[in-house]
Amino acid sequence: MASRAVVIGPAAYAVNSGIDSHTTIGESARMYGEVLAGDAMWGADNCRVLGKDEVETADGVMRALQAAADETGPEDIFLVVYVGHGQYWSDLPGAQVHLSVGSSHKDKPWTWLSSWYLYRVMRRARAKLKVLIADCCYSNLLPQLGEEPVLPGVLGELDEGTCVFTAVKNANFAPAEGCSALPGDLAHCTPFSGHLLRILQDGTKDHESRLTIGLLREAVRREMESCAAAPHQVPRMSLNDARDGTPLFTNRMEATRRDRAPQLPVDPEDWVRTLMLDRDSRLDDLLKDERKTGDVVAILSTRQDDASRHLARHIDARANNAFSEPHAFARYWNQVEKALRV
Ligand SMILES: [Zn+2]
Repeated sequence: MASRAVVIGPAAYAVNSGIDSHTTIGESARMYGEVLAGDAMWGADNCRVLGKDEVETADGVMRALQAAADETGPEDIFLVVYVGHGQYWSDLPGAQVHLSVGSSHKDKPWTWLSSWYLYRVMRRARAKLKVLIADCCYSNLLPQLGEEPVLPGVLGELDEGTCVFTAVKNANFAPAEGCSALPGDLAHCTPFSGHLLRILQDGTKDHESRLTIGLLREAVRREMESCAAAPHQVPRMSLNDARDGTPLFTNRMEATRRDRAPQLPVDPEDWVRTLMLDRDSRLDDLLKDERKTGDVVAILSTRQDDASRHLARHIDARANNAFSEPHAFARYWNQVEKALRV
């Protein structure tokens, strides 16, 4: 069992297909392979960029995905990167985003790969964390990975740890033209993948030595919003689980160039913000103060979004273990209760 990353990047289409071939797609796919191979958390053996023959058909893509999914175990990460064209036909029954493969034709939905098949393989994989990075048009319409319907016969932990990170959030169109502000080969990638890859390749100034999904999302958003070439669309990341605290990539910026570890948060709202980005690295510090831990859980439990509620449950479980002494637990629980009563 091992973590697996699969990169799908169909760059070339038949002349009469009505679909534009983009060298930026192929270059992005190649760079994902190179960057992942150079990351100590992945390495060349754990990632694979699908070849031209494989991305030619839905069958080729799905066979490769299934084989990789079957190799993941409960401690592993399953990462799928798709760079290409997306389409969405609202008149199909149970409309799904469709992803292009090399043999796709513009107005022939049956020649595209329904994202439903890709989701199905990812949902059924045993990996504890499943991440889809989708760099294509209509990626804003991709649903959460962990969303219903729950498939019969799969692991009870189906909803544990999924993430969909997409190039577009508010618009359907994802530009393919490279971003001139990016250095070297990255300028020949699509803008979203180019910026994301730059962060994976060069790291961020954050003091952490590994990048969680939360840190990655923040870094990509910051960089794309303030890009020197032009402010880009804001990418979208939807999580259905607080496992955005799971480290996914190495922060490859040298430690001396990174910011110093920030002071511990002081008030509970600061703690909430910190833990939402990286739920575990500072949690032990919070657990030294029973009352403050109670305040943080209280804030999170009164929020409506899934990520907050998952995080509340996670901290509560840790608090139950940590505060086994009755007085300590009472100090914690009094704070939680007080806030919940208001
Ligand atoms: Zn840019």
